[in-house]
Amino acid sequence: MELLRDTILKVDLGKIGRNMDKIRGMVGPDVAVMPVIKANGYGCGAVGIAPTLMEHGAAYLAVAALNEAMELREAYPDYPLFVLGFTPGRLAEITIENRITQTLVNLSQAKAFSDAALALGMKAKVHLKVDTGFHRLGTADKEELLAMAQLPGLDVEGIFSHLALAGEEEDEAQFRLFMECVDYLEARGVSLRYKHIDDSISLGDYPQYRLNMVRPGALVFGLLGFHKATLDVEQCMSMESRISQIHEIKAGEGVSYDYLWRAPRDTRVGTVPVGYADGYPRNMRDKGYLTVRGVKCPTVGVLCMDQLMIDLTDCPDAQEGDVAIIYGDGSGNTMSIPEAAQLAGTNKNEIIARILARPPRVYVK
Ligand SMILES: *Cc1c(COP(=O)(O)O)cnc(C)c1O
Repeated sequence: MELLRDTILKVDLGKIGRNMDKIRGMVGPDVAVMPVIKANGYGCGAVGIAPTLMEHGAAYLAVAALNEAMELREAYPDYPLFVLGFTPGRLAEITIENRITQTLVNLSQAKAFSDAALALGMKAKVHLKVDTGFHRLGTADKEELLAMAQLPGLDVEGIFSHLALAGEEEDEAQFRLFMECVDYLEARGVSLRYKHIDDSISLGDYPQYRLNMVRPGALVFGLLGFHKATLDVEQCMSMESRISQIHEIKAGEGVSYDYLWRAPRDTRVGTVPVGYADGYPRNMRDKGYLTVRGVKCPTVGVLCMDQLMIDLTDCPDAQEGDVAIIYGDGSGNTMSIPEAAQLAGTNKNEIIARILARPPRVYVK
């Protein structure tokens, strides 16, 4: 298909597949791997990467919100889908009809799901969320969890929680509270097929907390966040564009809004069609660079919505139409996602999750 834009996000499906294999190898055959592909698959395109994850043993595909799950459901009518976030009771029916496994956070939401399921003559497949300290979603009230588990319209397939990663002692306290809730329910006859608490970081750092399911997000895309463990995953995405125009300007002339940058010397300025409406952080001004012909070319001036300018003076061979790498894997003088996160004052997940819809996703093997 003809690409209608020079600014693209390239996603290497081979790397995603190998990363999945490495994660599965690390946790072993008794631990199910549920890759998290919320936020449009961490920017990579959830629908586009899903088949690779299915081929490489994903037990479920997890997203944050029902509308994300519905997009996957339309593309993949049968694959198990999981919503990690809150879905209000008014959306119970559509969730159940579409066989989407839903997180339940308290008794009132659980009742809404149970009632909707009974009205449909179906069961709602759900996992209970235990609030072990993060205080985002869930409850730690054991009687409430038991009441939720006993509702007639629910098929309670699992239970989970999420670590704050505040430190080993705090994490252990969360895990202990989680297991107390699990034990309480199991002692009262609730059967729980899946129990899970580990995300990307904790599945590596805390093998003792893997239970029988893990939920890696960033790790699937090759973004390593472990504090102790290691795994040789590969960053699967790169973002690139092409120089649209080159201007030769004189020392003292300004570039972009407010002329906040002025050329300290005669300068070759290249324009590249990527801006903050593509998800490129606006606060990269005076810090960011793009890579042209292996040379780091700093951005100059205020970054615009759809374009930015780079200093090509140290890359005298650069031509209009040349590839300009926005994010690479760090080799060949390219900016890696971790470096971009550091320069923009955020984390790796935000750098990729904020890549908006406009750059076409291009899948390579
Ligand atoms: C996003 C998310 C994950 C995956 O997080 P990573 O840090 O990217 O591995 C796991 N579990 C829950 C509940 C999440 O919201």
